[in-house]
Amino acid sequence: MRVFPCGGFCGQVNTLFQPDILYAHGQAFASAGLLVDDAGNVVRIVPAPQIPDDAERVPLPGRVLIPAFANAHSHAFQRLFRARAEGRRVGGDTFWTWREQMYRAAAFADPDQMFDIARAVFLEMAQTGIALVGEFHYVHRDRDGRAYSNPNAMADSVLAAARSIGLRITLLRTAYFRAGFGLDPHPGQMRFYEQPDEYLENLAALATQHTSDPFIHIGAAPHSIRAVPLADFRPIVDWCRSTGARPVHLHISEQPAENQACLREFGSTPVTALTDQGMFDAKTTLVHAIHITEDEMARIAHAGATICSCPTTERNLGDGIFPADLAARLGVPIAFGSDSQAQIDPFEDARQLEYHLRLRDRERGILDSASRPGWASDDSIGTALLRSMTANGYRALGVPGGSLAPGEPADFLTLRLDDMALLGTEAASLPEQIVFSASRAAVDQLYVQGRQLVANGLHPDADEIRARYRILQQQFLSHPVQLPIQETI
Ligand SMILES: [Zn+2]
Repeated sequence: MRVFPCGGFCGQVNTLFQPDILYAHGQAFASAGLLVDDAGNVVRIVPAPQIPDDAERVPLPGRVLIPAFANAHSHAFQRLFRARAEGRRVGGDTFWTWREQMYRAAAFADPDQMFDIARAVFLEMAQTGIALVGEFHYVHRDRDGRAYSNPNAMADSVLAAARSIGLRITLLRTAYFRAGFGLDPHPGQMRFYEQPDEYLENLAALATQHTSDPFIHIGAAPHSIRAVPLADFRPIVDWCRSTGARPVHLHISEQPAENQACLREFGSTPVTALTDQGMFDAKTTLVHAIHITEDEMARIAHAGATICSCPTTERNLGDGIFPADLAARLGVPIAFGSDSQAQIDPFEDARQLEYHLRLRDRERGILDSASRPGWASDDSIGTALLRSMTANGYRALGVPGGSLAPGEPADFLTLRLDDMALLGTEAASLPEQIVFSASRAAVDQLYVQGRQLVANGLHPDADEIRARYRILQQQFLSHPVQLPIQETI
């Protein structure tokens, strides 16, 4: 509490963050400040000559301040086998053989171990500048495939891990009902399967349990049309629409074989089958959407859905190249996800989205909407990709924020301008400097809801979390889960 110069008395003390360059709602400002109220929400951008004298000041010399990143698609447990399935002998040579290694990781953790894995993953995210994660969570049952006495025990561990770090989280509780069209249950998927009614009951219970925490949101994720047949989508989507327009995420068209199986079962591709049923709207996020046609992209645009691209994972898995130019032309928002945790690096995701297209077309500046007549926006390439790293992810996860507009939560990060990758950066070139040159080594601080989480690139609990993760990784490596390898879709 403090007495204001005007003589008025109230409980509010605004804080003014003063970086060298401020980037907010798509614009870079030199020598401006970000005014944040004591609830941690943005009040406004303050040009240098208008700095109020009743604000507490936080000088940030040599820093650029930008909105925090959102990671719209994560499977935390997959961190366990990062870089351990790259060669053919271990990981095979396709997505489908890699998936068998993934099942071994999924078979490993109990709820306590899940907490430690997720904490390490979320620590890495926080230290990379990510304030919000969308956890696409599908390991529900115990190692023998039975429901825990609390059927949301694994989800609760993930949520507790995010809260212990201080991240915002949208937990996308995932429906996984079958191995695929005409397939027997897969032994590696036993921890994923639930019955449709059981799933909805557990989803509703999880949502009810977490209504009061502003850092936790609950959404739904019918895993894919492979794992959730068309008829089972509607109750899930209806539940989300009837309980406050919750986000719905699903994997779609990551692999051509998935499209072919859908064609065999339903006579059309996943995007066509689901849009024919009215399953997409502005709360829908489609993960990957790599193998789709222009007509399918037009259907996605018409529905107002977002696409979450995961370039660092997609290149790791050899999935193919997401046609981001088609999405940008038709005005489909693109967000990013770390997916398999092959890397957790939003900078890398952003530039790879463009670089994959450059290699495909042998051209440059593909996503520069500003020089593309007829495209849906006139964003410069850096502005567009920075929006994908920030506001589009918040939108996809149903959380207000991501652009530091007045009234939004003050979720932001700072980057060091003396980092060699950013040396010489000025306001005009800032978005492109961040997207095409910066690395996560330049991340200095992270604030969530106006409170500092990361300082000097480190979270205060980093040492303890790393120590626990090292033990856990050893446990995983010394007790490999034996599962028969079967390359199926
Ligand atoms: Zn995924």
